[in-house]
Amino acid sequence: MSSPPPRPNRPVYLDNQATTRCDPRVVATMLPWFTEHYGNPHSVEHVMGTEAEAAVEDARTQVAALVGADPKELVFTSGATESNNIAIKGAARFAGNERRRIVTVATEHKCVLESVADLAAEGFEPVFLPVRPDGLLDPDVLRAALDVPTLLVTVMTVNNEIGVVQDIAALAAISKQAGALFHTDIAQAVGKVPIDLSAWKVDLASVSGHKFYGPKGVGALYVRRRPRVRLTPLFSGGGQERGLRSGTLPSPLIIGLGEACRLAQAEMAEEAQRLASLRDRLLDHLRAAIPDIVVNGSTEARIPGNLNLTFPVATAADLMARVPDLCVSTGSACSSATIEPSYVLRALGLSDDDASRTLRIGIGRFTSPADIDYAAAALTAAHAGAPAPGIEQFAQA
Ligand SMILES: *Cc1c(COP(=O)(O)O)cnc(C)c1O
Repeated sequence: MSSPPPRPNRPVYLDNQATTRCDPRVVATMLPWFTEHYGNPHSVEHVMGTEAEAAVEDARTQVAALVGADPKELVFTSGATESNNIAIKGAARFAGNERRRIVTVATEHKCVLESVADLAAEGFEPVFLPVRPDGLLDPDVLRAALDVPTLLVTVMTVNNEIGVVQDIAALAAISKQAGALFHTDIAQAVGKVPIDLSAWKVDLASVSGHKFYGPKGVGALYVRRRPRVRLTPLFSGGGQERGLRSGTLPSPLIIGLGEACRLAQAEMAEEAQRLASLRDRLLDHLRAAIPDIVVNGSTEARIPGNLNLTFPVATAADLMARVPDLCVSTGSACSSATIEPSYVLRALGLSDDDASRTLRIGIGRFTSPADIDYAAAALTAAHAGAPAPGIEQFAQA
């Protein structure tokens, strides 16, 4: 690019797989439920309680509509971490002794991997399946793991680092055939790809509000009713949410989650096309300047808003240091002083060296073409060892 691109709002946020901006329309919908209509949705003996309860139930219907569920199949939680814990530990503890095997995939979110691993201490047998180099689970690898009677299979719909989309209906069918329950973490899928939990025939699914422009600290767990899936709850208490999740429902957050679902349903199809064109624009610009860049994960089965890129020369840490006003992710978890290479990239077969030169870029609802052009120019300059265009002005601003 010859002339520098127009200066976007700084910083430029391209980390929409970590979290998203809460949509201002969602915030506006929530606000009165903090200050005006603040009744406890469980206080159904007075009008302040019943109006909150009615709004919570409307939100439940909005979530259900987006994911292909009956509203009665949804339990509100604090987010996908909690939903994954309740689903995996709750199903294992309720089922007890007959089937001990729990099958998951090496590229799952930490909260799934750790929930499955924790169950080893209770006598269950965790199995972590590998993925193909494109990040997808081979159905034959799952079939083989189900040779041993299996209690639960858990496979995420969309991966949070590489954005690949698994064929959940097919994997759930294989699991059911073997008599196993099937759970899927849909935190990165909601609002990005069409979801139909009842058609996919999954038993359990986990939702997070802040991954699709809703508030942080709220989510949902889908629990199939026909046939009914039984869980042992994690919390003791007042027995809210059909006994599965005790605790006062955070009505403002739940109402925000419902509005986020309504907006996603109305705008998802058009939004997907816009995100795909921004993604292609970024990749085209980068490839023109850095031909040896590699896209990790399947290029066909992936959400439009994610790029996971291995650069040929510069490390991700150096790129980010040279462009401090660009919010992207290394996909690496920092532990003490060392940077651990991403276990997801390792599972794809990347060397530690390749992983160290890899960035995750998440394009979202509030990303503009100017943001993309800035990111392309800044990363190109940074890869050549130069600071980003306009960085001095920014530092002084
Ligand atoms: C963000 C995320 C989670 C955790 O969700 P919280 O609501 O932040 O607890 C779990 N799984 C995946 C795939 C995620 O992207």
